[in-house]
Amino acid sequence: MEKDHNDKNVQAFSKTAIDKQKMYFCKLACLINNGPFAFMVTDINGSIEYVNNSFIKLTGFKTEEILGKSSSILKSGKTDPLIYKKLCKKIKKGETWKDVNPITVVHEHYNNLSEKRIIEIMASPLFDENNDFQGIVESWRDITARIVQENKLIESESNLKAIINSGDQSIILLDKDNRILCFNENFRKEVNKRFSLKVSIGDLFDSFIPKTDLDILSKYLNKAYVGKSILKEIQVDNIWYEYYFNPVINHDGKYNGVSICYRDISERKKAQAVIEHMAYNDILTDIPNRRLFDDRLKIALAQAERENHKLAVLLLDFDYFKRINDTFGHAAGDMLLKSVASRISGILRASDTLARLGGDEFIILAPSINNFDMVDRIAKKILDQFKRPYFIRNNELNITASIGVSIYPDDAKDSLELLKNADTAMYNAKNEGRYKYKFFTKTMNGNVLQRFKMEMGMHHALHNAQFQVYYQPIHETKTNKVVAVEALLRWLHPDLGMILPERFISIAEETGLIIPIGEWLIETVCRQNRQWIDDGHDPLKIAINLSARQLREPDLADFIKKSLKDNNLDHTNFSIEITETIMMEEGSPAIDTLTKLTEMGIEISLDDFGTGYSSLGYLKQFPIEFLKIDRSFIKDSIDNEADARIVRAILSMAHSLKKKVVAEGVESEEQLQYLKWLGCDQVQGFLLSHPVSKKNIHNIIKESENKEKSI
Ligand code: C2E
Ligand code: CA
Ligand code: CA
Repeated sequence: MEKDHNDKNVQAFSKTAIDKQKMYFCKLACLINNGPFAFMVTDINGSIEYVNNSFIKLTGFKTEEILGKSSSILKSGKTDPLIYKKLCKKIKKGETWKDVNPITVVHEHYNNLSEKRIIEIMASPLFDENNDFQGIVESWRDITARIVQENKLIESESNLKAIINSGDQSIILLDKDNRILCFNENFRKEVNKRFSLKVSIGDLFDSFIPKTDLDILSKYLNKAYVGKSILKEIQVDNIWYEYYFNPVINHDGKYNGVSICYRDISERKKAQAVIEHMAYNDILTDIPNRRLFDDRLKIALAQAERENHKLAVLLLDFDYFKRINDTFGHAAGDMLLKSVASRISGILRASDTLARLGGDEFIILAPSINNFDMVDRIAKKILDQFKRPYFIRNNELNITASIGVSIYPDDAKDSLELLKNADTAMYNAKNEGRYKYKFFTKTMNGNVLQRFKMEMGMHHALHNAQFQVYYQPIHETKTNKVVAVEALLRWLHPDLGMILPERFISIAEETGLIIPIGEWLIETVCRQNRQWIDDGHDPLKIAINLSARQLREPDLADFIKKSLKDNNLDHTNFSIEITETIMMEEGSPAIDTLTKLTEMGIEISLDDFGTGYSSLGYLKQFPIEFLKIDRSFIKDSIDNEADARIVRAILSMAHSLKKKVVAEGVESEEQLQYLKWLGCDQVQGFLLSHPVSKKNIHNIIKESENKEKSI
């Protein structure tokens, strides 16, 4: 319809087309009709006089629907009426009006499309040749797409802003001359806080960064300017930052700036340091752990090889640490480990490393060793740290340790072998009585093999009747009469010969075999005692040794009771020897067993007296009959005044508490006479008899009885 209308116009013009002017107007009309702009002309009263094709297309009206109508039918009702008022005012003044905020027209109003369109309207007044106002020419343009695009841009910019302002990063964009093109809130705040400066776009980056920082940063900045992305942790002013330098590429592919993102990572660094520390240090003692030790040993070995010198590895293990844990609890054990670690750390050279391997095992690396004397001195110094007691939770704890030493390159060339040999040497130190240090020797490997053989062999020893009981007489000092015998275990090993208890009791305790072995011993001595009585001897007391492990067995007291009964013996025929440490096990089942045994009337002797805690409180708790002075005091009691004083003190203390005293390890006549003079009740030792087999003890008992009878 619209097309027809226009074509008719053209035809009309061309039919009468003589006049060029008319043709010109015809073309102009065609151009106006079909050009990109929508036009509308109103008359002086605001009635629509003309619209072009584009206008029809844009508004969705048909020509006949709007021609002659008031232009107000075009109003969508969604546009602020003020805008129209402004428009009229301007037009009346004869000015062209173009709304800065284009009039918003909702298109659905005009056609059936539901979208909202944004129309920019330019309106100009129309004057006749007399300059009288004749109407308005309006050109309409659909700018919806542009506005949508602009809105999108605004939105994406605000999203970007939100992103760069969120988080803990400071972000700056620099141009080639180090001028700030853009920055985020964090950077603004930081500059303000650190330097009390206000940052603006176009400022030089250098003016916000101290020279010292800039020196560090410029190295990376320069690289970023030529296209390198760099992520770097940088420390400035004692603060750790993570910096990310990224080249900025412009539309033609050239680098024309750098973006810098950075954040304070001090907290993360601190946490990292803690984690790293934990990975390489022992949590309890805060000294290096095995991992760090291994690292250091590797480095030290390489250096020793290069510089052609020796190094020493000293492996240290506490003696009877389990007793401490069992007696005072694990917390006390931990505290003791800590105290020992700190004491030893205090005496080592800065170049030495003390590490904890776990449990009560420590290791010392002494690099740059010139001679064995040097290692001797270190080992002695370490053992000296066990001379003084440790005070833990109001307890005075005495502990010792054994040390095994191996030397590079003499004993081994690599770290594994060095540690293995130090371990072997340490076991040797333990076997030889503990609280000492031993240098590794090649023959020791044989000893370790022996220990292994022993462990294996002990399982069969009981069944194969390889254990024997030896007896050592205990004499009354005044009369020299045998008043008791101490039962001492012997192991007749098919390959290794006779093995003394010092070498196998601890293994038997560790493996638990001490329980069946102990039961066998109790039965054996009870049977033996019955035999002697049946043979017509005076009833004799047999003393057996019990370790903590045995006492913790809940059935032990009943077992002893039954063995005595089975052999028709009573409590006077039997006694037990225990060490002081057992008495300290408050709340332990060992104490229950002891209570049961004392209720049965069985005598208790305190063995190795003077070497343990010597806390005397428990002496009152249990009816302890005898104190057995440890043989180490007897050994030097003649020559060493300190030891003699201890012996005298034990005697007078024991007697004042109405306890009897046995002196162990009496080896010389001089010692015996001295003990007699001091009033020691009983004596035991090689001078009187070694521990001997049942046949030989039988003779000794007989001899003693005969002597008595002859007196
Ligand atoms: P102990 O209870 O102190 O036993 C005394 C040790 O001193 C015995 O060593 C004995 O041979 C030794 N001895 C005796 N007189 C002298 C002397 O004049 N000079 C020297 N130098 N030593 C002397 P043995 O038989 O080697 O026993 C060592 C330890 O093994 C015992 O020390 C005891 O603690 C333990 N033991 C022995 N038999 C048993 C047992 O059946 N059960 C348990 N749990 N432990 C036992
Ligand atoms: Ca004993
Ligand atoms: Ca003893």
